[in-house]
Amino acid sequence: MPRHGGAVEEGDRRHTSAAAPRMDERVTRLRERIDSLNLDLLRLLSERAEVAEGIGRLQTELGLSHYDPVREQSMLEALVEANRGPFSDAAVKSLFKQVFQASMQLEQDQDKTRYLTSRLTRHQDTVVEVRGVPVGGDHPPVLIAGPCAIESYEQLDAVAARLAARGVSLMRGGAFKPRTDPYSFQGLGLAGLRLGREISDAYGLGFVTEVMDAADVAACAEHADLLQVGARNMQNFTLLRAVARSGRPVMLKRGLSATIEEWVMAAEYLLAGGNEQVLLCERGIRTFERFTRNTLDVSAVALAKLETHLPVLVDVTHSGGRPDLLVPLTKAGLAAGADGVMIEVHPNPAVALSDNKQQIDFEAFDEYLDATMYHGRLSPGRTELYGAEG
Ligand code: PEP
Ligand code: MN
Repeated sequence: MPRHGGAVEEGDRRHTSAAAPRMDERVTRLRERIDSLNLDLLRLLSERAEVAEGIGRLQTELGLSHYDPVREQSMLEALVEANRGPFSDAAVKSLFKQVFQASMQLEQDQDKTRYLTSRLTRHQDTVVEVRGVPVGGDHPPVLIAGPCAIESYEQLDAVAARLAARGVSLMRGGAFKPRTDPYSFQGLGLAGLRLGREISDAYGLGFVTEVMDAADVAACAEHADLLQVGARNMQNFTLLRAVARSGRPVMLKRGLSATIEEWVMAAEYLLAGGNEQVLLCERGIRTFERFTRNTLDVSAVALAKLETHLPVLVDVTHSGGRPDLLVPLTKAGLAAGADGVMIEVHPNPAVALSDNKQQIDFEAFDEYLDATMYHGRLSPGRTELYGAEG
């Protein structure tokens, strides 16, 4: 027996106890056989996967579900019937179930590549530009702040001055307000849009406003830098189509009781309509909880970031509905991956014509900025003021 390369004899091993034991040649040969069988199996599995993809495409075309439990059961039965060992029937079933599952995943992922919102279609983060402020990707989280509704020149001017002084670049303000009570303040309409534009320009701010009706899209797009589609209109497909054609970036709020899938599908309408400048905004969903107005769904923020390539914002005002939750919800949203935050600020919330319990005054806004800027990493667009700390 040669000293190297062959099987190690007992005597040899005793004398060379420091050397690593060498593999029995027969094991080596069998392992080579296994390696080659692995490659055969991989080839067959890949071939099978390609066939499964073909079936998946046809099922999608025909509107059929990919999952067919009866078919799966009959395949397993045929495999158990053909099984001659040494694997037990249970082991064969479990192995093939894994194969079926992987194929199904492939078919589902293949479906998702049809969707323009999907990360599988576009891997890089989309960056949305709102009046020169980039939102998403590696850019610092932005802040959109301002009153619930535009009420007067004096009110909006005071807010704008404060925002500009604190380095916030984007101002919100509703001119068309979706109100539960038809007798409550409905917004200033076109006059509000004009005020929003004029005052934003005076302070160099981007103007964000909600559009409620397809008929108002042109006017809103003419005056605003970012169009908001509100929670109550998330599935107003006519509005979504009109907003898609507006040429303006859009922020799509999640519906009060919308699933993440419904929300993302609504965004799909915007992209399919030719508008790629789309932001998603999680604004809290309806749950049984009564201590908060809505429940901020932090997992939806993380999931929207995973499933889509679109920037995601959190509306910390309408979600919690409580000024004392603004800081923790901001931190939670940003920790979950949000690209920005929306908050309502009013010179005198007590007399606000809408959402007067949840808007905050300037003093509270200063405290909010101090608390979130440094600890929550929230950074308004004016990086020359806050970028270093943000
Ligand atoms: C708003 O932001 O002004 C608003 C009405 O929010 P939502 O659509 O999320 O209720
Ligand atoms: Mn509001």
